[in-house]
Amino acid sequence: MQKIIDFIKQTFNTNEFIPLHEPRFIGNEKKYLNDCIDSTFVSSVGKYVDMFEKEFASYVGSKYAIATVNGTAALHISLILADVKRGDEIITQPLTFIATCNAISYCGAKPIFVDVDLDTLGLSPESLKNFLEKNCEIVDNKCINKTTKKTVKACVPMHAFGHPCKIDEIKEICDIWNIILVEDSAESLGSTYKNKHTGTFGQIGAFSFNGNKIITSGGGGVIVTNDEYLAKRAKHITTTAKVPHTFEYVHDEIAYNYRLPNINAALLVAQMENLDKFLKSKRELTEIYKDFFSKSKVKLVLEPENSKSNYWLQAVLLDNNKQRDEFLEITNKNGVMTRPIWKLMNELEMFKDCQKTDLKNAKYLEERIVNIPSSVR
Ligand SMILES: *Cc1c(COP(=O)(O)O)cnc(C)c1O
Repeated sequence: MQKIIDFIKQTFNTNEFIPLHEPRFIGNEKKYLNDCIDSTFVSSVGKYVDMFEKEFASYVGSKYAIATVNGTAALHISLILADVKRGDEIITQPLTFIATCNAISYCGAKPIFVDVDLDTLGLSPESLKNFLEKNCEIVDNKCINKTTKKTVKACVPMHAFGHPCKIDEIKEICDIWNIILVEDSAESLGSTYKNKHTGTFGQIGAFSFNGNKIITSGGGGVIVTNDEYLAKRAKHITTTAKVPHTFEYVHDEIAYNYRLPNINAALLVAQMENLDKFLKSKRELTEIYKDFFSKSKVKLVLEPENSKSNYWLQAVLLDNNKQRDEFLEITNKNGVMTRPIWKLMNELEMFKDCQKTDLKNAKYLEERIVNIPSSVR
């Protein structure tokens, strides 16, 4: 154990506390921020918002990108775009950050938890298919849950720590069942599956730029889609449904104040300029960890088949939860920050009554996975 701690300290070249993930501001961040302040365009109208949206759409290979105040808001709006209504049901994975389930809940919808794959950590197409075949039927072109009689409107898989899930197979199943695919790509900017960027397989994808993500705007998010109508609608309902008018307030529905301010977008434009550098550094760190852990009993989590991961957060797999707890205890006590993967969503008080499949893979991973320091060096 001491060897692991020493190695991580040596890798990050410090004896000080090593956080799990800190942002890097090594480019034009200050310059663009100053420009915002000098121009007085600090709020949700401004050139950096437009610049960022254009650049982001082009980077991921999507027709449209709509910037939002954070990733949770991006997910919330994505679900509204998917026509999720009160009482609908949404399939997702139990092994995710709470934001996925919060966004579902904001719509008055309920999650259904389907198991994950051990190799991707993400939603298992096999488990999804089994759940649908056993529990659902198509009635009037809608996927109806035979147990609850509710509509299964959307499916929200998540690319955990940047590792793509088997998203093409998931898309195929969703299409058969008339379920809209919304990708929670919050963690996977820079990750591709079969050479296509994560977040662009479904009808809608959502990303986050929270302080701990691969690039950050302090807080921020973005919705991507190829559908012009959905893109226009996303912009409209994130901007209080304000109808353009030269001087009057006109709003045509109840909507949200979710647009990303220009200041945050300025940070993002600068961060995007260094994204490829960040991705390169993360792959270098993976090689360093891979080499070290190959000689240890601890297993490093590597990118699954057919995919290129951004390696946002490095993860290791311990033998059991006793070893995991020991690992967490000793590393954190010695100034090396480590954190267990999320608790399963279906075990939280708010979601304990939600329908679920057998979640044995999710449980297995929950008891063993720990994130280790992953910052760009
Ligand atoms: C970070 C994250 C989000 C969005 O979080 P915000 O903090 O609202 O930007 C959503 N889903 C997952 C899986 C995340 O990791």
